[in-house]
Amino acid sequence: MKDVMLKKQGGTFLINDTDLATFYISELISEETKMMQEAGESFLANEIENRLEFMETKEAIAITPDLIKKCGELGFLGLEVSEKYGGIDLSFKDVLHFSVTISKGYSFTGALGVQTSIGIAPVYLYGSDYLKEKYLSKMISGELLSAFALTEPNAGSDANAGKTKAIIDNNGNYIINGQKAWISNAGIADMFIVFAKIENDKNLSAFVIEKDFGGITIGPEEKKMGLFGWSTCQVFFENVKVPKEQLLGERNKGLKIALNTLNTGRIKLGASCIGVGKKAINHAVNYAKQREQFGKAISNFGAIQDKIGRMEAYVFANESTVFRLGNDIDLLRKELQNQGEPFSKAKINSLKEFSIESAIVKVYGSEIQDHIVDQAVQIYGGMGFSAESPVEGLYRGVRISRIYEGTNEINRLVIIKEFVKKGMKGELDIFSLFTQISSELTKVTEPYSEETITQYEQFVQNLKSLSILVSGTCLQRFMTQLEDEQEISMHISDLLINLYVIESTLLRIKKLKAESLLNEDIHFPLLKSISFDIYTKVSNTITELIGAFDSKKEASAILLAKDKFLKIPHYNIKEERRKVAKHIIDKVTI
Ligand SMILES: Cc1cc2nc3c(=O)[nH]c(=O)nc-3n(C[C@H](O)[C@H](O)[C@H](O)COP(=O)(O)OP(=O)(O)OC[C@H]3O[C@@H](n4cnc5c(N)ncnc54)[C@H](O)[C@@H]3O)c2cc1C
Repeated sequence: MKDVMLKKQGGTFLINDTDLATFYISELISEETKMMQEAGESFLANEIENRLEFMETKEAIAITPDLIKKCGELGFLGLEVSEKYGGIDLSFKDVLHFSVTISKGYSFTGALGVQTSIGIAPVYLYGSDYLKEKYLSKMISGELLSAFALTEPNAGSDANAGKTKAIIDNNGNYIINGQKAWISNAGIADMFIVFAKIENDKNLSAFVIEKDFGGITIGPEEKKMGLFGWSTCQVFFENVKVPKEQLLGERNKGLKIALNTLNTGRIKLGASCIGVGKKAINHAVNYAKQREQFGKAISNFGAIQDKIGRMEAYVFANESTVFRLGNDIDLLRKELQNQGEPFSKAKINSLKEFSIESAIVKVYGSEIQDHIVDQAVQIYGGMGFSAESPVEGLYRGVRISRIYEGTNEINRLVIIKEFVKKGMKGELDIFSLFTQISSELTKVTEPYSEETITQYEQFVQNLKSLSILVSGTCLQRFMTQLEDEQEISMHISDLLINLYVIESTLLRIKKLKAESLLNEDIHFPLLKSISFDIYTKVSNTITELIGAFDSKKEASAILLAKDKFLKIPHYNIKEERRKVAKHIIDKVTI
């Protein structure tokens, strides 16, 4: 793959412009996918929301297998899988549309996601024909439930440090011993994707292990902060006899399988943050319209409108990034297939290519989701702290999103690691751009245009120049060691996150215009709101970076870049957020 010039390449948003023709926006959803979403909505309404209190108790775990089977009957489990195995072969972006819908099912969504994203997906993408024939159709019907067993008590973020061991017996089969922690769906699973080291290997291998092989014990349900209706337990393996055909992928390649599986999971998590965010906003606005204080509904107060305006802009921005990325992965996968790669390899390679962007949507989605749900609780006031309000469970439940699928610290490290790798290999030509932009630092900056979209194109170009100068300065100073200078590298990751988010939002606005779907009264205030937010975040990041260098050399180079490029078109941001808030307040019916 590396020798061929690809049209779609990960990380290039930093240095290139994106062709609007290949940019996808969620508004262009197909009728077929909309029908799938409606089926998802109706499943949630009939099976989850009408008994939500029960579904958020431990007792609900017992009925989860039947509910997953129902999802199988409705086709929800095989969205990404070919018809050969009983799936319906949707594109990745269409699967993401469904993830947005189904994310609103609290604990049940977690259980469903384990079955599809980290159960079916690795078997489909990495399994031998034997494993695919043996398991896929039964997993897709919900007859066989799966769990993903990577984490161990002493090996979390450093998953490759796991001690679970596979010994090869005289017949070439495996005997597995070890312990796994925090395994979702463990209490209901019939089979496990287990990561263990074969003999004295340095790296993990992956296995598909059925509970019926014997020697597997499931620990009690963990006492969690939230999502009580979703099983999470330890799993113990004692002399488990595993036939050699159960090896998933190649020996020693388990960590790659795990990380790539998590890449898909990260993007779906970003998508689910859209659904949860919309749900929280809906609850909060609904409540704010009904709750009266000082003689009027609290939705009339500026402080409440400011929160709602920000929350809505966050969801809009998140949605712009998730669907951009989903479509880019589809396009690259198709391109690689056209070059002769089989489907699985093309999908794996396209996910890998976009690992910077996958980490970005996971970090951004989970952090704005936390903010949104927190503000929803705040809008509910005392009732937000009550277990009887719908936002209390959301508040506790979403906290896990910043921890699993790679903690947000680890995802920020993924961003920087890939960035350094691509920069050093010349795949991202940071250094020539760095030299070029540095040489233009003394030139007079063009004033912002009077036209809104052009203004923000200039704003984004300025942020690109700033990001290239700042990351280039840090890269020059630390080279391959940049990743280890975590206080600095985390900020570089934040610059890339903010750039990807604002560029995706602007591209969405431009695409809406190109498709004659632009409503300036709402879309421009959304663009201005999110741009202002990004501006303040980048200001903060740059200030932190300046403060993190002793040497005047880097600190003054960054300060110079900031003075030149960190500028935003001036609008009354308070009014723009109010416009967004009022639009949402009018839209939500009590
Ligand atoms: C509800 C729930 C469900 C889960 N489901 C599953 C599942 O189905 N399957 C599975 O295998 N696992 C699962 N996990 C485990 C989850 O993936 C891990 O908790 C996660 O990867 C973090 O590992 P850890 O808890 O050991 O934290 P640690 O790795 O100990 O991290 C602790 C802190 O240190 C930070 N840190 C760690 N390393 C670095 C570093 N190099 N640089 C900077 N900071 C660092 C982390 O970001 C974090 O803030 C689940 C966890 C929970 C809570």
